Amino acid sequence: MRRETPDNQPMTDTPLQEIVCCMGQPVAGNPTQFMMERAFAAAGLDWRYLTLEVPPDKLADAVRGIRAMGFRGGNFTIPHKVAVIEHLDSLSEAASIMGAVNCVCRDGDRLVGENTDGKGFLQSLRTLIDPADQRIVILGAGGAARAIAVELAMARPADLTIVNRGAARGEELARLLVDRLQAPARFVSWQGDFEVPEGTQILINATSIGLGDAQARVPLNVKSLAPDTVVADVIFNPPQTRLLKDAEQRGCRTLDGLGMLVNQGVIGFRLWTGIDPDPQVMRDALEEYLEV
Ligand code: NDP
Repeated sequence: MRRETPDNQPMTDTPLQEIVCCMGQPVAGNPTQFMMERAFAAAGLDWRYLTLEVPPDKLADAVRGIRAMGFRGGNFTIPHKVAVIEHLDSLSEAASIMGAVNCVCRDGDRLVGENTDGKGFLQSLRTLIDPADQRIVILGAGGAARAIAVELAMARPADLTIVNRGAARGEELARLLVDRLQAPARFVSWQGDFEVPEGTQILINATSIGLGDAQARVPLNVKSLAPDTVVADVIFNPPQTRLLKDAEQRGCRTLDGLGMLVNQGVIGFRLWTGIDPDPQVMRDALEEYLEV
């Protein structure tokens, strides 16, 4: 039977909308839905992106729900990036090495886990510099740092230094890079203001310092930053962090966390839909949502 909407638009010829989602807790305020739905509309796709609050003890049911309702995939954020793995059918190489998944794609009846955090970062970095053969310092050893470090290690840098406050996490990440990827990686304990080693070509803040606080200071001697060092920050809200402002004053070229966020959105969009979205539409949407 042909149904009519109140304004007499036919509905039966319209296929069901495809659905993807973001699951996390807490997840309110996550900007990805706003960005993705703008990108779907710009690409002429009648897809929906749902932001879903899922507590850890309901994750298994939630992933069964994805299968039962035929979602095309989704993003998984804190606290599910590691826990979701046991509910999936397979992992990409990078996700398997990292031991964390932030993007799931349905392939027939199978759910495949990928990690787009590091890939999105590298895509952003490559707009300024190719990481191959570069001397790179990563501040932090949490989830974001781990994803970035694994992708960087695969890009064959000359040197990869992991600087972290907590020694256990930092040492574990450096060991992973050496053992699994034969990367020239080492751990440096972070005490007091970090002195950027001479010859560093890329410095990345992959800590959570700066999140929601434009004045937050990364403990680092800004004067040790050389003007030819590219400085990147994973913080996207606010995107103009104190570290980036200081680095710009030193004459460094900089990259903000919005680029990484847009690029991982681009990768997820392509995995789910098979179509390349417009990254500018996505960046504009993020800036509008975050009011920056
Ligand atoms: P984690 O909690 O896993 O890791 C946090 C890291 O920050 C750890 O290395 C921690 O060190 C370090 N850290 C926190 N506070 C301090 C401090 N005061 N001094 C020194 N080190 C500190 O978080 P994630 O890695 O998942 O996320 C980090 C940031 O990355 C978040 O702000 C997140 O928003 C951002 N992010 C951005 C993305 C983007 O697309 N732009 C994507 C993913 C994340 P320690 O081990 O010693 O505790």
